[in-house]
Amino acid sequence: MITFEHVSKQFEDGTLAVDDMNFSIEKGEFFVLIGPSGCGKTTSLKMMNRLIPLTEGTIFVDGKRISDYDINELRWNMGYVLQQIALFPHMTIEENISVVPELKQWSKGDIQSRVTELLQMVGLHPETYRYRYPHELSGGEQQRVGVIRALAADPDVILMDEPFSALDPISREKLQDDLIELRNQINKTIIFVTHDIEEAMKLGDRICLMQEGQMVQLGTPHELLTDPANDFVRQFVGGPE
Ligand code: ADP
Repeated sequence: MITFEHVSKQFEDGTLAVDDMNFSIEKGEFFVLIGPSGCGKTTSLKMMNRLIPLTEGTIFVDGKRISDYDINELRWNMGYVLQQIALFPHMTIEENISVVPELKQWSKGDIQSRVTELLQMVGLHPETYRYRYPHELSGGEQQRVGVIRALAADPDVILMDEPFSALDPISREKLQDDLIELRNQINKTIIFVTHDIEEAMKLGDRICLMQEGQMVQLGTPHELLTDPANDFVRQFVGGPE
C-alpha cells in the first residue's frame, strides 16, 4: 500500500531528519512509527501526503509515486489526525466532519447520513452533538471527532500523529480502545506516530522503531520484545534484560 525506497529528508538548515528509510506498509495494516522525540517520525508521516517534500528516494502509494498523484487525490485519500485538536472553532461538529465530503461534492443527504453514522460509531449521540461547537465538547470528545473527521470521506489510509498524547490517561485509554474497535469495523490502513511504547504495543500490527532518522527495527510487538535488534531496542521496549 505504501512503500518507502531510500527515502531521506534534509531540511534547509542541514538537519538530516530522515536518513535512508526503506519499508512497506501492507493494506489494512496498523503500522506504528515510534522512537524518541526528534527521531523523524512526524517528518516521515508528513512526507506520505506531501506536506513535506523528500530530498532523496521515492514513496509509492498503491504502486504509484506520490509525486505522480494529483495533490487533492492523494490527500483526500489519506485522512489526517493531529495531536493538537484541530477542529475549526467557528464550525459545528457536523460542519467540521463535512469538510472533505463537501470538497468531494457528496450530496447533502449523503453527508448528513455519514455524519450520523460516524458520530454513532464513536458513541456521540448524533442529534445532540452534530449542532454543537468544538468548545462545547470535552478534550476526549473533540479528539474523537478529529478521528471520525479523518474517516469522513472513506479514505483508504489514515495518518495519525500522536493523536491521543494531549489527553488525560483515562480518556487516552478509552480512545485507544475505541480505535481498536473502530479499526475492526473499518479495516483501514493506519499509520500511527507515537513515542509511547505501551500505546505502540497495544495498537500496532507492526512497529517501526526509529533513532536519529533511521529505522532500527521493524517487527511485530512480539518480535521487538523477544528478539530486539540491539540494546537500544531492548531498552526502548523495556523487555527482559
Ligand atoms: P519526531 O516526530 O520524531 O519528534 P520530527 O520528524 O518532528 O521528529 O523531527 C526530526 C528532526 O528534524 C528533528 O531534529 C527536528 O528538529 C528536525 N526538524 C523538523 N522540522 C524541521 C524544519 N522545518 N526545519 C528544520 N529542522 C526540522
